[in-house]
Amino acid sequence: MLLKIYILIFPLIPSILNIINISNYEYPHPENENSNYYTISIFQTNDIHGFTLPVENIDPRNGEKYLRGGVEYISSYIKILKEEWKERFIWFDVGDSFYGGGFENFISKGQILLDFYNYNNLSAITFGNHEFNEDVSPLERLMEKSNFDYLVSNMRNFSTGQTEFMPNQKRSKIYQVGKIKLGVIGIAHSKTENVDTRNRKIEFLPYRENIINESNLLKKKGVHVIILIAHFGVHCMNKEGYEDVRILKLRDKNSKNCPCDNYEELEDLIGSFPKRTIDLVLSGHVHKVTHHWIHNIPIMSSFSEYYVGIAYMKFKKIKNDFIYEETFLENPIPLCDKIFNIGKHCRKFTHKMGDNPDLIGNLEQFSFHNQVVKIDNNFSKIIQKWKDMVEQYKTPFFENEIFLTGDKKKENILQNLITDIYRKYTNSDISILNPDNLRAKWYPGKKSLKDLYEMLPFDNILCTFEMNGREIMRMMNDITNELMIYQTSGLIVYYRKNPMRFVTCKIINEKGEIKDIDYNKNYQIAAYDYLIDGNVHFKNVIKWYKKRKYKCGKRGREILKEFLLNKKILKKDEYYLNPKNPRFIFLN
Ligand SMILES: [Zn+2]
Repeated sequence: MLLKIYILIFPLIPSILNIINISNYEYPHPENENSNYYTISIFQTNDIHGFTLPVENIDPRNGEKYLRGGVEYISSYIKILKEEWKERFIWFDVGDSFYGGGFENFISKGQILLDFYNYNNLSAITFGNHEFNEDVSPLERLMEKSNFDYLVSNMRNFSTGQTEFMPNQKRSKIYQVGKIKLGVIGIAHSKTENVDTRNRKIEFLPYRENIINESNLLKKKGVHVIILIAHFGVHCMNKEGYEDVRILKLRDKNSKNCPCDNYEELEDLIGSFPKRTIDLVLSGHVHKVTHHWIHNIPIMSSFSEYYVGIAYMKFKKIKNDFIYEETFLENPIPLCDKIFNIGKHCRKFTHKMGDNPDLIGNLEQFSFHNQVVKIDNNFSKIIQKWKDMVEQYKTPFFENEIFLTGDKKKENILQNLITDIYRKYTNSDISILNPDNLRAKWYPGKKSLKDLYEMLPFDNILCTFEMNGREIMRMMNDITNELMIYQTSGLIVYYRKNPMRFVTCKIINEKGEIKDIDYNKNYQIAAYDYLIDGNVHFKNVIKWYKKRKYKCGKRGREILKEFLLNKKILKKDEYYLNPKNPRFIFLN
């Protein structure tokens, strides 16, 4: 059957030495005019998480360097596929795009990714749960400048009841792909934290009714198929099939695959839909490779720091009837300058992989659909200004002799250092820090502004406020939880474990003297605006605490920068944990 329909492709490239053809299997092609069939190709990216420029990896076996990830490679694939499929090509992104990593993305405030989407004519994206990491306004600024749609159907403005209220945002939309009318519904993760700002409250709704309603609306408008772009997914990787799932192939509903679990209830959800509610799901969020049929519906996912994927949907030319048995998924397609020639991937080399050389092979240049995959130079010119900017941030300005990283459960040097700096800078009695604020590992060596931004990626401002001793006790009690211990300076905190609970705390002054808290005395506390403005960490505190003597100053990052500029070297003998004076004490 396959042989009849698809033209067998002879590898044209391998005549050039060392370029391997990674799509050395039969894959669909646009039919010619006389064919009774009509196929379209749907390109998917998901979970780019700000990783816009490639990362350098090293093959530890021989020290060979290779580049992995980056939108310049995605751009190259889009170019190849557009040349091949022309008007029958369309591209969707499944979210978690603008936040999560990538220094270049961070300093461009998402503009570098926006340039990528606009340049390559993305059709639509849905929201990932991280899209709201930095409040709504930066996201809306990006949305306004987007030449594509934001499809989110399970979101509501709490005050007005509107479900389409952000720039370029719609619940669903019909896209014309060649002859085919494609209905597309977007879904954000239902557990995306509700957004609660001064002027607006956004809530995220359950999936099922939303999708069915939207699907019915699209059907009334005469679409030929319906695609769900959903920022949630399934795990379909058990131990035996693990490596096979990660091998690039063309798969259909009869392909051997790993069983899927009902992660995030996607399996139950899809099983509960009336027939033909959805014809294809492009999923995301779980960062797993998926190309599986669940209740006869194809579901594709990868994670586009490493991979992209293509879905092919086939129609009868007369009436554009969808042939659901003949959907194909080509996945996971690697993003890199070279690939390991056996595994057809360029993932970071792990020892697990190294144990079995049959899974890896050697690094080679490669072609896909008979075109060499390399950085798309025209697109690279568009983002050159951001690359230049990244370079400026790479000049070292201080050095650390000690390993520094945050730890949610343990007292550690970095958190002690930062809370001490914040307390002294603001001349406060106490400072308090949420450890999930610190995002990098600093190995001993020279450090640059880039390192500093990676350690403190959030633009949090340091503020001070007044609390009496009784309020401090209540605050510490309210923020104690199993997930993380809040680092303090000027305070020793006593806990009990299993379950984690707050017992008491004492003041420790500059001379190291420990004193009971005076319930009626007022103390000055330093913390990020992010905490005291009532985010998840302080959600219980702001129920009873009204800010007194509240003042905000500089960004935490700027304060740390001033300190490091002066200090120049963080010396081993100056910064260490003193076991005699711990800041957290566990009583059991
Ligand atoms: Zn996500």
